[in-house]
Amino acid sequence: MKQITLIKGDGIGPEISDAVVRIIDASGLKIDWDIQAAGTDVIEAEGTPLPDRVLESIKRNKIALKAPVTTPVGKGFRSVNVQIRKNLDLYANLRPCRNLPNVKTKFNNVDIIVVRENTEDLYAGIERMINSDTAESIKIITRNASERICKFAFDYALKNNRKEVCVVTKANIMKLSDGLFLDCYRNIAQDYPQINKREILVDNLCMQLVQNPSQFDVLVLPNLYGDIVSDLCAGLIGGLGVAQGANIGTDYAVFEPVHGSAPDIKDQNKANPTALLLSSIEMLRYTGENFFAEKIETALFKTLSEGKFTTDLGGLLSTTEFTDAVIQNLIK
Ligand code: ATP
Repeated sequence: MKQITLIKGDGIGPEISDAVVRIIDASGLKIDWDIQAAGTDVIEAEGTPLPDRVLESIKRNKIALKAPVTTPVGKGFRSVNVQIRKNLDLYANLRPCRNLPNVKTKFNNVDIIVVRENTEDLYAGIERMINSDTAESIKIITRNASERICKFAFDYALKNNRKEVCVVTKANIMKLSDGLFLDCYRNIAQDYPQINKREILVDNLCMQLVQNPSQFDVLVLPNLYGDIVSDLCAGLIGGLGVAQGANIGTDYAVFEPVHGSAPDIKDQNKANPTALLLSSIEMLRYTGENFFAEKIETALFKTLSEGKFTTDLGGLLSTTEFTDAVIQNLIK
């Protein structure tokens, strides 16, 4: 039986984790979940929101499904999410953004894969005050990190029958840093003659995305543009309740929804488990469990097609009612 680390997180994390575990179980796929508590709920007992045992578990199992984990503000703890990404060198942030059946959005036929570099750029956190009126933040772009993220995007495109990989920069202004990223894209692209190439500036991309998003296929971006554009794309497909994600490295992969722990709806049986469920479906595909991924996805899509929604999508169902409806469609 496959062993996978499960981080139930806090806020709505435990509710949506339980929903997803029930659905996967009902599909007939047996997973030995290595459950690891993390976040605010473990601080009192263990002195940190991210005990070593959590990272050790992911290193052991190589794959994790992770619900949102809150890092308490102003208590001196480093972000749990950033620590996991850094520690395991999860250099690629993958966010598939596709229209879901019956979920009303401005556009149909959105099917965009956002591949965001996860380790450097302005997020390297190198900042200082030059004097009391001037702050400086350093943007780091390296050939190594840029080439490996571009390679990741092209490999993903090849493996998943995508037609195009479009690189997004502001290389006309940041000629050296974004220029280097673009240069790395061009080098790597030569190894993939089957895939179409496209280069676009980030400002133009944003305008095109809100006018005609279906023209885009796979996007590859440095960290900051990737962060912003992936939220824009999440908005195109129905928002946080349905936005899935994954952080992937050479040795380990952590699948998680885009949304946070939503403390405002915690323990109210209101949370939409779809984003975590879609993340788990992508995880199953990643581990080669295509049959079960397909089976669960079909049941989810059927449930949505029947107009069964949680309240964030304008429906009437609670978390458990929605989960039951997906399970009904799985076993029909
Ligand atoms: P973080 O800083 O951890 O990202 P946040 O407060 O910015 O947290 P979220 O926790 O993602 O953002 O929540 C933003 C809003 O979206 C909240 O009002 C929350 O209720 C709603 N929301 C987020 N996820 C879900 C979900 N799965 N189902 C229903 N509503 C959700």
